[in-house]
Amino acid sequence: MLGQMMSQPLLISSLLVHADRHHGNREIVTRRPEGEIHRTTWRGIAGRSRRVANALEGLGIKQTQRVASLAWNTDRHMELYYGASGAGMVLHTLNPRLHPDQLVWIADNAGDQALFFDITFLPLVEATAARYATVKHFILMSDRAHMPAATKIPGLICYEDLLEASSDAYDWPQLDENLASSLCYTSGTTGNPKGVLYSHRSTVLHAYAAVAPDALNLSSRDTILPVVPMFHVNAWGLPYAAAMTGAKIVFPGAAMDGKSLYDLFEGEGVTLSAGVPTVWQGLLAHTEANGLSFSTMRRTVIGGSACPPAMLRAFDQKYNVQVLHAWGMTEMSPLGTVCTLKGGQEGLKGEDRYSVLSKQGRAIYGVDMKIVGPDGKELPWDGKTSGELLVRGPWIVDSYYNRHGEDILRFDDAGLGWFPTGDVSAIDPDGFMQITDRTKDVIKSGGEWISSIDLENIAMGHPGIAMAACIAAHHPKWDERPLLVVMKKPDAKVTKEDVLAWFDGKIAKWWLPDDVVFVETIPLGATGKMQKNKLRDEFKDYVLP
Ligand code: ADP
Repeated sequence: MLGQMMSQPLLISSLLVHADRHHGNREIVTRRPEGEIHRTTWRGIAGRSRRVANALEGLGIKQTQRVASLAWNTDRHMELYYGASGAGMVLHTLNPRLHPDQLVWIADNAGDQALFFDITFLPLVEATAARYATVKHFILMSDRAHMPAATKIPGLICYEDLLEASSDAYDWPQLDENLASSLCYTSGTTGNPKGVLYSHRSTVLHAYAAVAPDALNLSSRDTILPVVPMFHVNAWGLPYAAAMTGAKIVFPGAAMDGKSLYDLFEGEGVTLSAGVPTVWQGLLAHTEANGLSFSTMRRTVIGGSACPPAMLRAFDQKYNVQVLHAWGMTEMSPLGTVCTLKGGQEGLKGEDRYSVLSKQGRAIYGVDMKIVGPDGKELPWDGKTSGELLVRGPWIVDSYYNRHGEDILRFDDAGLGWFPTGDVSAIDPDGFMQITDRTKDVIKSGGEWISSIDLENIAMGHPGIAMAACIAAHHPKWDERPLLVVMKKPDAKVTKEDVLAWFDGKIAKWWLPDDVVFVETIPLGATGKMQKNKLRDEFKDYVLP
């Protein structure tokens, strides 16, 4: 006997309809790439998203066809999110930090029909327009006043003109909830990037999970500033979760420097933000240099790479801001775990509390996880044993876009498919997961594993160190030994001996890096993570002392 409840598809458009109907006056504020601060509301976004839907249909784009964006976090980008996906098309967010050749490759692989881009990327699109094989329409997301007098881009369309000419009367189609809604490629540090194709259902379920108290704890009273870009896994789902709750959103546009962000935090009463650790380094440097504090911000989500415990402490002790350390990946929409204390842990103080909160956290409902050894057998949750982390759930990838016949899941004895994350981690008896490494970054010294993340975290707690990356260097006896690559803070005087002494008593002796090298900069990838593969290339012939 089946249940007798309404069967209503979980659609992205329903999030917008809800925000419009119940939180229509709640503000959406953007520092637009053109420079001005723009103010609208959820109702304004809803009306303009309907215009986008009409405009896309007017351009001849059909359901399930791909519409690409090269854009910052802005109100216009969010209209495109809802307009394209809501109309049944697939919004493909391109990462503008990638190399132009890679962008062209990705757009071709996706078969993008239209490309919407911010004014910042006009030179990039001018240089590459002729190379996109499938793109028929180029739309500059600005108004007439900012259109170039002459351009090489064929038939360049002005976004505001396009919307003006399109009606805001549009009935969102009742799509199959499993229909593809958006597409995001992994940054592809090895091999070609791979497309992860989200569905309406996976997106809405992920938003439900994200807003829960033990996850990001979002409500209509929040003002959210997503620093994490909308081209990096849909800004971790915040544009959807915000609509679900009716929160105010503040979009930083192209200005990601500490001062611009800080001004928005204070000026707009931001309560929650989200971004990768490298972004917060810039912000904290600005607040520290100017003796500033946060008057409304109380929580920030940090993920994408490990949050150094020193950063967690600084936010907590100096600024009274709670860090929500989160872990996930493009293939997971992206949320997998969030670190919040459990019942019974509220009283934890000082280092006991930080040692829990600096872990990557507990699985949110909907995500199942386990760690396995090389033989595929599940390993115990003792907080010590580490193994390869596997996950499953309704917002986790099943197969990559456009790669037919490739099976990426691992099946267990019960026939259930698990996605291998490529991360190595330990899980403690309370279910708190801690990433020790990526499988490709782990340092294998004489058959034993050394966690590069642990060594980096400790190094980054040193007052004179801005950033540190630990990579494996070849060793004749031990095979691999840790080499610590350090970027100092400006004007800091730090020697190799200081750095090595800093590790004293903090790690097992055999984990101590064999050498420390100082560099001017550590290369960052398209999503703000340290590019250890580049460092490995640079130091591949390094001879340890
Ligand atoms: P890519 O896999 O191309 O780097 P993602 O942004 O999807 O792109 O990155 C996912 C990976 O980032 C994870 O598999 C993990 O290695 C790392 N990661 C994400 N969050 C954290 C975190 N809180 N701590 C440590 N590593 C993290």
